[in-house]
Amino acid sequence: MFLIKEIEFIDYNENEKIMINLINGATDIIDKDIYDKIINKNFNKLDKNVIDCMMERRYLFKNKIEYTTFLEELNNRIEELEKKATPNFLVVPSYACNLHCIYCYEQTYMIKGTTNIDPIKMVDLQFDRIDKIMEEYENQYGKTNDDIRITIMGGEPLLRCNLKTIDYIFEQAKKRNYTIDIVSNGVDLNYFIELFDKYKNTLHHIQITVDGIKKIHDKRRIFHDGRGSFDLIMNNIKLAIENDILIVLRVNVDDTNIKELPDLADILVKEFDHSENLKPYLYLLQDGGCSGEQNIINEKIGIETIFKLEEKNPNMSIFRKKFHPENFIESIFSDTPYQPVLRHCGASKNQYILDCKSNVYKCWHGIGNNNYRVGTFYPKYELDNNKTSDWFNRSVEKISKCKECKYRYICGTGCPAAKHMSDENMNIKEASCVDYKELIKTIVLEKMKNN
Ligand code: SF4
Ligand code: SF4
Repeated sequence: MFLIKEIEFIDYNENEKIMINLINGATDIIDKDIYDKIINKNFNKLDKNVIDCMMERRYLFKNKIEYTTFLEELNNRIEELEKKATPNFLVVPSYACNLHCIYCYEQTYMIKGTTNIDPIKMVDLQFDRIDKIMEEYENQYGKTNDDIRITIMGGEPLLRCNLKTIDYIFEQAKKRNYTIDIVSNGVDLNYFIELFDKYKNTLHHIQITVDGIKKIHDKRRIFHDGRGSFDLIMNNIKLAIENDILIVLRVNVDDTNIKELPDLADILVKEFDHSENLKPYLYLLQDGGCSGEQNIINEKIGIETIFKLEEKNPNMSIFRKKFHPENFIESIFSDTPYQPVLRHCGASKNQYILDCKSNVYKCWHGIGNNNYRVGTFYPKYELDNNKTSDWFNRSVEKISKCKECKYRYICGTGCPAAKHMSDENMNIKEASCVDYKELIKTIVLEKMKNN
């Protein structure tokens, strides 16, 4: 018998352990006696039922060769899936922004302002490139039935002065049957309601950041003259929801706003009454952008605090919690098979970012930073093959530390930009670890309390 190494045991109580398969998310509660036999590899002392169950749930294999073959086949299958992942695109119509948030890493952008050519022509160039990428993809893998998604971001894309450009992006996306989402600060959103109504079926959602109750938000998400933006943004969210627009509301959480999250939850419940058009989520900041690192909370401590706050105030359940092992944990508690990964995100798959200065990037946090540009699309389309290969090769099979790591199918090499403040240190050939052991234990035990 061969026991997989991608296995986690968590103390559940004095007599029981939780056993988790870190490849497929299978999870079982076992008593201590069984646990002792498993870790001491006394498989012949285990009941046949237990052995059968462990083999069926892929904790155990007949021998090492069977296990290695299983992993080889699994890796090949994931590689195939990730190679032909449906392309997704980001377009940046302008780097200009009407806010001056204290943590905004965009202040470090090397590129400012907007396009040097006619903005409508720039959209045409961006869509020409998208068409060519799709053509190449379809020649290789055939037509996809999946939704092709274009994300519009900036700077701030929904500036009143960008109305015509945004309208044209929607027109082009609609023509191709693609859908759009927008990352916006929501300040000028009221000027776009008519446009969104015109393209109802093309707009998927708008993501807007609200960083807490008014007194907190207005210290962080401020105009260039120092005024807060809370009231304006909340009114625009209301307007959007009344107009049947899906708003994904992001809350950047750090030490300065975590304790006030229940107050924000109360406001959201009171104002929006659990509307289907409002999907708020919490994101524990990984770095402090331009405001420095002093307020960043260790993810485990942040998770524990958020669970405690939710125990006291059930309105906190309005927030989806985007913690690191979110998909893996969700598969455990929804009892659905986990889809293991070799890559962390779209940057290592078929994601392309096209900005208004004709630069191409792979990673969101590289936008506006010449060090992370992988090419240009105008006047000539030129990709730096070394740089694009570095991104495509950011796979657990290519990084020796990840290859040996038991959390690799959950992590997929991590996000090299998580600490993007020091850009020189973003090395896409290196592992970017997160403490999955502690995070999985903390979240599973918290969730078991309510199960
Ligand atoms: S910031 Fe990290 S997760 Fe986001 S695209 Fe870049 S590498 Fe991927
Ligand atoms: S980045 Fe770290 S945690 Fe993630 S797979 Fe690689 S070694 Fe494991």
